[in-house]
Amino acid sequence: MKSLKDYASEIQKCSKCGLCQSVCPVYKVTGNDCAVSRGKFVMLDGVLKGELKLGKNIEKYLDQCLKCGKCTDFCPSGIDVCDILYAAKAECFKFSIPLTPAPLPLREEGAQLLYFSGCFNRVLRKHPLKKLAAAEDPGFGCCGFPYLSAGDVKRFGKCVEHNKNLAGNKLVITDCASCAHMLKKCGINAVNAAEYLESPPAPPLTRGALPKVTFHKPCHMENTDFLKPLLRNAEYIEMKDFDACCGFGGEFALKNNKISREIAKQKAENILATGADVVLTACPGCILGLHQGLFGRKAPKIMNIVDFLATTDSHPL
Ligand code: SF4
Ligand code: SF4
Repeated sequence: MKSLKDYASEIQKCSKCGLCQSVCPVYKVTGNDCAVSRGKFVMLDGVLKGELKLGKNIEKYLDQCLKCGKCTDFCPSGIDVCDILYAAKAECFKFSIPLTPAPLPLREEGAQLLYFSGCFNRVLRKHPLKKLAAAEDPGFGCCGFPYLSAGDVKRFGKCVEHNKNLAGNKLVITDCASCAHMLKKCGINAVNAAEYLESPPAPPLTRGALPKVTFHKPCHMENTDFLKPLLRNAEYIEMKDFDACCGFGGEFALKNNKISREIAKQKAENILATGADVVLTACPGCILGLHQGLFGRKAPKIMNIVDFLATTDSHPL
């Protein structure tokens, strides 16, 4: 893993254009430039030049980030914001062990499937995916995302090593978008369950009224091409800003609960405006974020898309 110093020139590539403000969910709620990548880079540049100290004040703003990657996608200078913030947090944590980045292996046809539940799913759900995909969990642990976000690269490295040893070259299927994102980042041949279910498509359902559903796209999900083919047995209504962050972001919600709830409330309004019976997503963290926003409202049922498909006779596996 690169250190903060290694990112000095990357940080200086920031032109201060401020375009990241227009997409950052935290900035939209706080209006504070220190909460968005531009402000964070000004501080980190100061740290690297020895003008500022990387202490609690700066760390507070490093923690005001959902790691949603929206600023990275939008940044005209092509800066990978999250990787820089991970390195800065690692500096705060005062650990520095090297991790060798591995190339992402290509998905193989007919590969043996392994199931990765992730920490939230282990606690919150009964894994219908396991029944659908007949995939075994060989004893995977945490994907390491919370440790990387917190700057604890030592524990992150242990998680990566453990999971990589168990995964080998096999295809790992998970129903947590954040875990899928992190496993792929660590070179594990992982796929989000919803994307894996894309083929073969579900047959059309001919009986009864179709349930009205909407979908919240987790920030760590790369594409949603699977969505309409998978939901052909439902009436799909796209919500406004369906790819806007739910505001959860793991420990972000604990450390910045007021901001997190504000972001979640906006998402809740967009969900309610669809009139859907069910709001689907593909990440257990987002499920908590959606519950947070809809708390106290007459709200639709909130489900992982995999659970939803398991409630019909239409799942394609
Ligand atoms: S969009 Fe990129 S270049 Fe522009 S201010 Fe934000 S981080 Fe800097
Ligand atoms: S990763 Fe998301 S929350 Fe963090 S600075 Fe970028 S847009 Fe804002």
